[in-house]
Amino acid sequence: MKGFEHLQTELEEMKDQGTYRELIPLESAQGSRVTIKGKDVIQLSSNNYLGLTSHPRLKQAAEDAVKEYGVGTGSVRTIAGTLSMHEDYERKLAKFKHTEAALVFQSGFTTNQGVLSSMLSDQDVVISDELNHASIIDGIRLTKAARKIYKHVDMESLEEKLKESTEYRTRLVVTDGVFSMDGNIAPLIEIVELAEKYDALIMVDDAHASGVLGENGRGTVNHFGLDGRVHIQVGTLSKAIGVLGGYVATSQTLKEYLIHKGRPFLFSTSHPPAVTAACDAAIDVLLEEPELIQKLWDNTKFFKDGLKELGFNTGISETPVTPVMIGDDALTHKFSDELFNEGVFAQGIVFPTVPKGKGRIRTIVTAEHSKEELQEALNAFERAGKTLGLL
Ligand code: PMP
Repeated sequence: MKGFEHLQTELEEMKDQGTYRELIPLESAQGSRVTIKGKDVIQLSSNNYLGLTSHPRLKQAAEDAVKEYGVGTGSVRTIAGTLSMHEDYERKLAKFKHTEAALVFQSGFTTNQGVLSSMLSDQDVVISDELNHASIIDGIRLTKAARKIYKHVDMESLEEKLKESTEYRTRLVVTDGVFSMDGNIAPLIEIVELAEKYDALIMVDDAHASGVLGENGRGTVNHFGLDGRVHIQVGTLSKAIGVLGGYVATSQTLKEYLIHKGRPFLFSTSHPPAVTAACDAAIDVLLEEPELIQKLWDNTKFFKDGLKELGFNTGISETPVTPVMIGDDALTHKFSDELFNEGVFAQGIVFPTVPKGKGRIRTIVTAEHSKEELQEALNAFERAGKTLGLL
């Protein structure tokens, strides 16, 4: 069709530079093994940390909800799309997170957009880690507030930005709890101390920490013993929780404000009953099956140690997000292809998702993987590494 020529040119350029990516359809349910192009492979590329996407309790809850409430809600929350189960779930989530209130958005992405775009005005400033997630960056682009970026997890740089910001009405410091491409944890104790010194609010995006860190997976704030000292905790319901959605756990005031001003909340239809019911069951699983989180961490240690013993560089990861640093973009993709030949699905991540020359294979083990599967994956890494001359 005519009219898209300049877009086609750009796509061709991406193909020349090796950054064009095909979507890879799974032909099976998400799990420790998946079927791709008819081949059974070990899955190391999902965020399904606890294997909850196929947990029987979540599936049953979803099925029951469909039977009783149907498949859709027919409206945005503020008109006729709030079911009592939405409110029950938010109360349960707030209790779980030890906060006054919680509000669910359609996704983690729109939660960051909704919170950041609505709560700040031109009298305010937002101070953000340079490696924060794209949804934080986009949320910041939508605010009228002044913006300052501090060097990645660099507390001197953060303090500098806070010192320059004393004239603003509100200072909001925002950071990922766990950084999604390197798997390192934000130095939250130091961030909280600095924010308190300069009377700033703190917002933490726990997308990769919910269900992973803290007591029963309550997240980084709880992990560092900082309950009550972080004003805004954002997270996703699509990774360890296994379903779909985002949440903000915060004060009752901010919740009510977001109901009135958070545009993705106001103008987009609420979650289907099956989604909410499954998310609700996920909290029960976190509380009643803590062995899943234990297994996730045991598997993480086994796999990370194995990669290091083979001689791979896993960067600064401290969590189940474990990058295998390769460097060159084309070589990164080649390595990922070779891993696939060897029976492992582990995607290469290259520019622009990570800086140029910092291409990596990003692996995430889950609680569902058996030690045998992880050993099989390590053997595949060894063979692929030798084939490409990386070991
Ligand atoms: N924040 C971070 C740090 C993330 O990694 C992601 C997921 N890529 C999101 C937010 C967005 O979450 P969701 O997939 O639920 O939109």
